[in-house]
Amino acid sequence: MRRGDSNRQYLEVKTSPTLNFIEKLRNDFSSWLTRIFSLRPLRLCGERAMSQLIIPVFISNRGCPNRCVFCNEKKTAGDFPDRITESTFRGTALKYLNNKRRKVDRIQIAFYGGNFTGIDKSYQTKLLGFAKPFIEEGLIDSIRISTRPDYIDSERLDLLEKFHVGTVEIGAQSMVDEVLNLAGRGHSSSDVRNAVQILKDRGFETGVHLMVGLPGDSMEKFEYTVDEIIALHPDTVRIHPTIVFKDTALAESYRHSGYIPMTMADAIDYCKYALIRFEEAGIPVIRLGLQTTREMEEEGSIVAGPFHPAFRSLVEGSIFLDMASSLMELAKTKSREVTFTLSPKDVSNFRGLKNQNISMLKGLFNLAEISVKTDILQKRRSLVMAVCGKTYRTDKRSGVQGSRFKVQGLENSQP
Ligand code: SF4
Repeated sequence: MRRGDSNRQYLEVKTSPTLNFIEKLRNDFSSWLTRIFSLRPLRLCGERAMSQLIIPVFISNRGCPNRCVFCNEKKTAGDFPDRITESTFRGTALKYLNNKRRKVDRIQIAFYGGNFTGIDKSYQTKLLGFAKPFIEEGLIDSIRISTRPDYIDSERLDLLEKFHVGTVEIGAQSMVDEVLNLAGRGHSSSDVRNAVQILKDRGFETGVHLMVGLPGDSMEKFEYTVDEIIALHPDTVRIHPTIVFKDTALAESYRHSGYIPMTMADAIDYCKYALIRFEEAGIPVIRLGLQTTREMEEEGSIVAGPFHPAFRSLVEGSIFLDMASSLMELAKTKSREVTFTLSPKDVSNFRGLKNQNISMLKGLFNLAEISVKTDILQKRRSLVMAVCGKTYRTDKRSGVQGSRFKVQGLENSQP
């Protein structure tokens, strides 16, 4: 089979009217749920997206055996107190539940921050017990926790199971042991493999957190990390660039011993690569970039690093810029006017923040006019370009090659 044949086959299968229609319904439903009260699309269940409301409760640095070099939970966790009492817990849960206006598929309480399964058993039991009446009353469906991979074993999982913990998110950060050592994590990549395997064997929904730009990391090492995580096939992934927060070992290293944070451009490239790879593997990336807290926005909190409150939009926008640029390069047109057609849901990502992509495309290809049309039947993250009576199309799932994003599966046709 020639190289182009597989792409052609892919495009033919993907563009069948029935699949397009199903895809459209699925994407429409997912986006609708996302817009309403920030509900999160969870994953695909058959052809329908599930949605969930996650109520976060932060247990800052509880249960951590050491402090990772990048970690400042006072900034990333927001204004939760050091010790969670029943009244704090109830106040938080009720605030979210009372503000909920629409039915969702699943409501979870999430104990984030710290290392949940490293907390002493009596406090774990107490925290889980706070959620018990909410579960018994049918107000929430299950509990979600985040924890370290070296604190997962049968006994700990027995306790989680008993209290209706359904989802366990593992802080893997990298699958390269040298990077984990330099980050002061105190666990190995084998711990991540073991943890995900045990969790899956026991039937827990499993999430993995990754970071890009840790000390000693590189694109090659990050690609390896992505490969390894895809092989483990967790249910979800979260990725964020390494940010240098004040009062951390990383801030010291940045000032005195040569840690160089990633540039924003590199952070976008790495995450773009990962997003496409995970999506191709059927693993939803449920977060890109750190959730902004008020504490993070205080002056001096962020010492350095590629922080942006809308980081995911930057990544998605960059993918569209690649796609549009590839179509322009394929067309080799001298025309100064082109029209792009896309799903209405993709318009803001296509334009980029503050219309940056439009300006860049005009500059790169000497264009005077870029028209943007929408088609509700068009598949999300696909782009059709019309110029001089010809059309060209691509979609971002067409491929990743080497260490950088590349659009493949381009197609042109006479109208
Ligand atoms: S395990 Fe997580 S919460 Fe604990 S110090 Fe490391 S990054 Fe921070």
